[in-house]
Amino acid sequence: MRESVVATLGLGANLGDAPATVRAAVAAIAALPQTQLLRASRLYASAPIDSSGPDYVNAVVQVSSRLSAPALLAHLQTIEAAAGRERPYRNAPRTLDLDVLLYGEARISSPTLTVPHPRMYQRAFVLLPLAEIAPASVSAEALAAVRDQTVKVLEN
Ligand code: AMP
Repeated sequence: MRESVVATLGLGANLGDAPATVRAAVAAIAALPQTQLLRASRLYASAPIDSSGPDYVNAVVQVSSRLSAPALLAHLQTIEAAAGRERPYRNAPRTLDLDVLLYGEARISSPTLTVPHPRMYQRAFVLLPLAEIAPASVSAEALAAVRDQTVKVLEN
């Protein structure tokens, strides 16, 4: 049987009831087969980057999963689709965006999956929630590099 791997996942939503969408997505991730939710950050609010519309609501979770990285991504895309995500144009506002940020120590570069996520270290809305649940995985330098981006804790 496949070993379980700790995967770090990013969640974002900015349409409709975004906090409710993110909370429901965390619950859906926790219910994935062969997967346990280890930690979930609080919800954060951030202004859109390369996108438009209202503030994003973001969170980061860590799971322990026996799913392969492509299988995990496929499950995340099913959860996105169930949240009614439509993609009329690139970087359009979206109901729910789920990313595989890290998959253990793996480095993956395929046409459909790049891990570590290529933009995670440029985004305060990833690094702040990640630092909350896994402080050792985010350096002070990484946090300093995004300190001009405004990200607020939405709730405790
Ligand atoms: P986006 O519209 O930014 O959510 O991009 C979705 C596309 O990015 C999907 O078609 C995925 O195949 C691809 N992709 C590549 N790497 C990743 C990743 N680490 N997490 C999620 N999607 C990824």
